[in-house]
Amino acid sequence: GPSADEVLEKRKQFLGPSLFYYYQKPVNIVEGKMQYLFDESGRRYLDCFAGIVTVSCGHCHPEISDAIMEQSKILQHATTIYLHHAIGDFAEALASKMPGNLKVVYFVNSGSEANELAMLMARLYTGNLEMISLRNAYHGGSSGTLGLTALNTWKYSIPQGEVHHVMNPDPYRGPFGSDASKYAKDLQDHIDYGTCGRVAGFIAETFQGAGGAVELAPGYLKLAYDIVRKAGGVCIADEVQSGFGRTGGCYWGFETQGVIPDIVTMAKGIGNGLPLGAVVTTPEIASVLAQKIQFNTFGGNPVCSAGGLAVLRVIDKEKRQAHCADVGSHLISRLKELQQKHEIIGDVRGKGLMLGLELVTDQKEKTPAKAETAHLLEKLRELGILIGKGGLHGNVFRIKPPMCFSRDDADFLADALDYSMSKL
Ligand code: PMP
Repeated sequence: GPSADEVLEKRKQFLGPSLFYYYQKPVNIVEGKMQYLFDESGRRYLDCFAGIVTVSCGHCHPEISDAIMEQSKILQHATTIYLHHAIGDFAEALASKMPGNLKVVYFVNSGSEANELAMLMARLYTGNLEMISLRNAYHGGSSGTLGLTALNTWKYSIPQGEVHHVMNPDPYRGPFGSDASKYAKDLQDHIDYGTCGRVAGFIAETFQGAGGAVELAPGYLKLAYDIVRKAGGVCIADEVQSGFGRTGGCYWGFETQGVIPDIVTMAKGIGNGLPLGAVVTTPEIASVLAQKIQFNTFGGNPVCSAGGLAVLRVIDKEKRQAHCADVGSHLISRLKELQQKHEIIGDVRGKGLMLGLELVTDQKEKTPAKAETAHLLEKLRELGILIGKGGLHGNVFRIKPPMCFSRDDADFLADALDYSMSKL
């Protein structure tokens, strides 16, 4: 194949200037196999970021690839105006993974589309317009979801008149530490003094992803959901990153907070790399769309449905939830050991294989170690490791590998961090 330089040159010539790359010299990926990626020279990298938390079961997982291939030979597309069994089989399997009355599924093609639809449902169901999301949130790149997104690093969030951003309960950087009730009070105050009292919905990630792997203070969502429901709004969980067993003991991120949302949105890991997203809600909320048409040309097409169904099967068959809990707790303890040794590690957080490592130049002041993080990112790449980076200050490593990531892989990553941090 072409060299990395040639690939980059063509992108510069024909693709938009908003593309951004990791690494001074971007990695040119030609092949993926489970938790590994390979560049054009055949060099192998351990993938700790899974194509931005998307390749849930592993690159080109054989059972999922086979399911996609077989379906693509029989019927690739028909749209929902005709009958085909794949979409129903997939919806049934997905609904079986949801708690409570969350049994009605809509398929779309991405996280942004899922959140757009969730927002529409919340507004139609309540008859209200005002949406509430958390600061530091990322909910998508479409015009409506850009309003929900609250990250100035994006540079072009489109302010929406009816969206309010409230304090995110960040135990490390937030002013109230892990005291969920104080952040909940901020939400209540916003509703009381900042809205017109016509709240349609509240949307939150349980683990803020792009915002820097922030795990919401324990108990926050329970308090927040109560407040929002009392104000007449519905509660939306954005599970685009945290779903499908990644957090270990639970299948969904919201379970770690002991809540049941009214609407759940998902994408990324649902398709192991296929363009696929979904919204799951209750029959009551779904009924607001009953006399209307909610149409999506590609949503739940036979190939994506066959692939998505295979993903659910693989997660169960390979016991990925238990695996994420086991490997995650091993990796967390390795990272906490490193924290004792390396001053630069300000915070180790997360659950399962949904982890964050926040780097600071000063433990007390928590000064973001932005340049050091960028430097370490390059060093890890030299050692054959690709990892995620995020947060408002670009000083958080995001560790969210394919869920086949092993204890040995965790040790390899911890050793590489130890080695490269020792050389800082
Ligand atoms: N929600 C969350 C939590 C996300 O991380 C993302 C993507 N990074 C989205 C929504 C938007 O998904 P997509 O890029 O598929 O539109």
